[in-house]
Amino acid sequence: MSEKEKQRLPQSSKNESSGSATGNPRNKVALRPGHSLMDWIRLGQSGTDLTGVGGVTQDVTVAQLAQHNTKDDAWIAIRGIVYNVTRYMDFHPGGSEQLMRGVGKDATDLFNQVHAWVNYDSILKKCVVGRLKRGDSRNEDLRMHLFGSNKKKPPVPGFQNDLVNGKIPQAEVKKGVQRPRMDWYQKLSSLSLIFYTKVLFPYVKVCLSGERELKVIIRIGVDVHLWHYNLLEDVVWPCSVTASREKVEIQFQKRTEKMWPNFGRPCDDNESTSTVQGESEHDMMNIETVLPVSHNTKLFVLSFKKKIYSLFPLGHHIKLHADIEGLQVTRCYTPVPPSLSLEEIPPQWKAEHICLMVKEYANGQLTPWLCNLAPGNTLEISGPEGSFDPSRLLTVSHLYLLAAGTGITPMLSLVKWGVDPSNSICQQVNMMFFNCKERDILWREQLDTLQKENNRFTIINVLSEAEAGWNGQRGRVALELLQNFLPLTGNDSGSYYVCVCGPTAFTRLTEQFLKEMNYAETNYHCFVG
Ligand code: NAD
Repeated sequence: MSEKEKQRLPQSSKNESSGSATGNPRNKVALRPGHSLMDWIRLGQSGTDLTGVGGVTQDVTVAQLAQHNTKDDAWIAIRGIVYNVTRYMDFHPGGSEQLMRGVGKDATDLFNQVHAWVNYDSILKKCVVGRLKRGDSRNEDLRMHLFGSNKKKPPVPGFQNDLVNGKIPQAEVKKGVQRPRMDWYQKLSSLSLIFYTKVLFPYVKVCLSGERELKVIIRIGVDVHLWHYNLLEDVVWPCSVTASREKVEIQFQKRTEKMWPNFGRPCDDNESTSTVQGESEHDMMNIETVLPVSHNTKLFVLSFKKKIYSLFPLGHHIKLHADIEGLQVTRCYTPVPPSLSLEEIPPQWKAEHICLMVKEYANGQLTPWLCNLAPGNTLEISGPEGSFDPSRLLTVSHLYLLAAGTGITPMLSLVKWGVDPSNSICQQVNMMFFNCKERDILWREQLDTLQKENNRFTIINVLSEAEAGWNGQRGRVALELLQNFLPLTGNDSGSYYVCVCGPTAFTRLTEQFLKEMNYAETNYHCFVG
């Protein structure tokens, strides 16, 4: 154990710790023969009407939904869409009893607790009854389900990539919302746009069509602000984007060095604001490089096929979509920084790239396919999404990160943010990283180097299947371990914050321990997809 670790850990925690698992909430039942996922897909493709309403979609009121609450007549609502799951009962890997828990009602919360990662919209796409009518408009969600993700998506305000047709429908334009102020200035060779966002980590998307048509989308909370211009002259791609607590600055090099008499012409939908609805538009990405991270994990470096630059909010994930033998598979991945080094930027990294760390699971639906892809292949993504509120970090001087396995991915950007010398808010980032064996510790060398070179960062590795020769912590997450690692709750509760991410059972157990330690929900965040 390093000196820093020893300082961090009081005597008692140096004993081996062992946490008990709460058990996997996604326990599967043995399905009867003929009821596998492939059988379900075949049934969906057979032409059988699984909707029970002749495939004619309809709006469903909450009262109507409640009437379909038996095994023989089972409707369920998830994220605004009502599905008839009567025929699916015997195919549900968790068993019909589990599925019945959500029948006859809006089961979105239940679904999110148990199945947030499951690609239900592909599995149940042949069962759509219609839209759940609650007085708000969810047309986009419904169309998304009915069209399937390979077809042209209906545009979601503020996220269209087709700049020419990318108008926000007037009905969607929000009135009375305060928009960030925009300024621009120029030099002979460059053009700079400044957006006074005054928030930590807004979502910023810059799209250039041709060399002049510029669209800037900035999302703050649920408000999506759009600026859309035909610039006076050509600019060079890529742009550079910098974001601070006050503003976002986007800079382009001019194709020809000269002063412009004006900025250009606004498009019709310029300066409009809408609300996030449904899933964002999908973007195609090229795989640029695939780098090994560990024996079973790779780093994918992706670049947008179009001229797009995306600055993702801290702690948010994207969705990766794939068509695998006719089944639409979606998984969430949190973009990671290209490295943890503050000075050195890896040579293969360019500003408009995003990096995803992917662990291959031999029996996984997506990752064996994904990890077989190589530079030159393409991937489809959408997002960002997530419930993490980066503005919570504004008062945080001490950040505590509890990560297990690939649960480290949302933590990596937080580490980078916290240890950056220009960050005057955060003073200390302490991570406890739970893995099975030494070889599973992702970016171990980089984490160790950061600990050696940066006083603001400490890491404690805890192994659940440590082999002989491991001198560090052993076991799983346990109350005593956390009591020794985390600050006691008290008056200074505004200044520390705990983030948790890993397998669902790990996250639940850790949250249970945090509650036992009297942590308020405002003092921690559990990443759950
Ligand atoms: P893993 O199976 O290798 O386990 C890593 C460690 O987690 C183990 O060593 C152990 O300490 C702990 N752990 C595992 N099961 C546990 C249990 N039942 N109780 C207590 N502790 C337990 O981990 P992995 O295969 O890398 O999986 C990482 C998980 O993190 C995946 O399930 C992934 O979905 C999730 N994840 C979520 C997000 C997010 O929500 N934003 C992001 C990244 C990863």
